Amino acid sequence: MDIDEDTIDLRSDTVTAPSAEMREAAATAEVGDDVYRDDPTVNELERRAAEAVGAEAALYVPSGTMANQIAVHVHTEPGEELLLERESHIYRWELAGAAKLSGAQTRTVDAGERCVPTPEEVREGLVSEDLHRPGTGLLSLENTHNYRGGVAVPVEGIAAAADVARDAGVPVHLDGARLFNAAVALGVDASAIVDPVDSVTFCLSKGLGAPVGSVLAGDEGFIEEARRVRKLFGGGMRQAGMIAAPGLLALENVDRLAEDHANAERLAAGLDALDGVNAPAPDTNIVVAHSDEAEIPAADLVEACKAAGVGCVEFDEHTTRFTTHLDVHADDVEEAVDRIGDAVAALSA
Ligand SMILES: *Cc1c(COP(=O)(O)O)cnc(C)c1O
Repeated sequence: MDIDEDTIDLRSDTVTAPSAEMREAAATAEVGDDVYRDDPTVNELERRAAEAVGAEAALYVPSGTMANQIAVHVHTEPGEELLLERESHIYRWELAGAAKLSGAQTRTVDAGERCVPTPEEVREGLVSEDLHRPGTGLLSLENTHNYRGGVAVPVEGIAAAADVARDAGVPVHLDGARLFNAAVALGVDASAIVDPVDSVTFCLSKGLGAPVGSVLAGDEGFIEEARRVRKLFGGGMRQAGMIAAPGLLALENVDRLAEDHANAERLAAGLDALDGVNAPAPDTNIVVAHSDEAEIPAADLVEACKAAGVGCVEFDEHTTRFTTHLDVHADDVEEAVDRIGDAVAALSA
């Protein structure tokens, strides 16, 4: 999609442009060869990122997908099972990377609106190794849950699921691409969400506004192995301080996520008021709008919104996703609702 200047781009929170401060920080960053661990800016980012989630250590990686796939590779042996939620990003949107890169067999649990499996569902999903079965190598959870509409899963839900796996000797990974959105929405420190799990991914390049990069965090032994796997996957970077410097500034954008959540709430209310459209009140910055009642396919709505000057993405046959972010202001939300209203009216006519 070629975005013109007047478009209100709600396709994703990845579309933000780096601020003037971020560009300045990139230009003036102290750098070194990060594969030799010589880049002071990356080292500082990894230290601060670990601290932000209450982990021992952290690793800077090019993308959230790579962070997740490294975690799967470190935690599992080829042929072992990876237990995860049916609509999780790792299962749905990572090109079967767990199978291709790590030889993992996936087993899914449908957690529905809860987004996290119950302890009972985890228990049923775990497989013990025997003559016929490979054993479960990893349980992976997601917070916020992207596909189900940026749902902030309560700390207790994550902890209850994680405890069952860990009691069975199975490590737990959390895909927290939008971990800080969850923390802000739940009013807790990110470390409280991460505490029950063994490793966590979070993205600097989403709501936090950095141009590039994600973080994988865990204990020191895990991160040491993760560093080798990052190299294996082609993610060893050299003077990466250039992109890590904006990432350091991004860590300061946590509290303002509340503005994105408020904007998303108003956007959802505006869309929900349109004839034939249902848009539940969101927990965080992702609004999913269902247009089945209006009998408007999401693909058509995306096209019509684009023509009306709003960027959004198709999620399912009649489900469209709109995401607020740091380049979307309160008055953009009013304008977006008007434009989407026009698009819906035109399609319903
Ligand atoms: C965006 C996202 C990822 C992947 O991040 P990329 O940086 O786009 O690779 C992983 N998990 C979830 C839940 C996401 O929303």
